[in-house]
Amino acid sequence: MSLITSDGILLRSHQYSESSRILRFLTPDLGIVSLIGKGMRTRGARGEASIQTFGEGSITFLYKPERDLHTLREIHPREGSLALGRGVKRFVGASLVAELLLSHNLEEGDRALYEWIRTVLHNLATAEESEVLTWVLAGGWRTLAELGFPPRLSECVRCDRDLSDSEAEVIGEGRLFRFDVGAGGVICAQCGKDTALPRVGPSALRDLEVLVEGRAPSTLRGSSAHLSLLERYAEHHLSPRRGFRSFASLRPLLNKTEESGYR
Ligand SMILES: [Zn+2]
Repeated sequence: MSLITSDGILLRSHQYSESSRILRFLTPDLGIVSLIGKGMRTRGARGEASIQTFGEGSITFLYKPERDLHTLREIHPREGSLALGRGVKRFVGASLVAELLLSHNLEEGDRALYEWIRTVLHNLATAEESEVLTWVLAGGWRTLAELGFPPRLSECVRCDRDLSDSEAEVIGEGRLFRFDVGAGGVICAQCGKDTALPRVGPSALRDLEVLVEGRAPSTLRGSSAHLSLLERYAEHHLSPRRGFRSFASLRPLLNKTEESGYR
């Protein structure tokens, strides 16, 4: 048993009993830790009221290596920690990224992942309204890649053929690549001939490459199709127990202009 002080990003919290809450934090060195905060029902107790979901702070807790639940002692919210409360789309987008993380048994620290989550939450909080969904997609794709599930986008996942070589003939035939969620990436025109897998056009493929790197494509078309692909990919590779709820919450928030074709 040891007393640990660490940075942490609050991913989720819920009431556990009359007087205590469970808080789940992403930390740089221990992955996700679940903490029980006793006497936290009253807002203001031990700092929780001042740390919002997706906020960052310094947390001190009693760590028992053989347990799943540790005891929270103190929270000090980070100065200037951003609020995502000013837009439901921003908040649901952050919830989506949190859901991906929480569905994975992240028991080891990963500083690169931690820094990425800080970055994407910052971008979700500060992006122009028109770019929020782009950051949700970048957040989802790069988080999946950081968790060990990067989609393969430059060669066919079935025959290893370089997709940039086959691009011209695919466009010439007016055909598109297809995305094989189970195999983990894009398949070439030959391998995709007789399949009914979702289509991915050349520009959607370029956008995907940028999103997986955690960047925002300059213009993103077909957000709704992008979101569906991310959902299918995440559900297949992380197999959450009850499915991801954030996708369904996000879909009605898409603008009509975001739903145009996927080319
Ligand atoms: Zn192929």
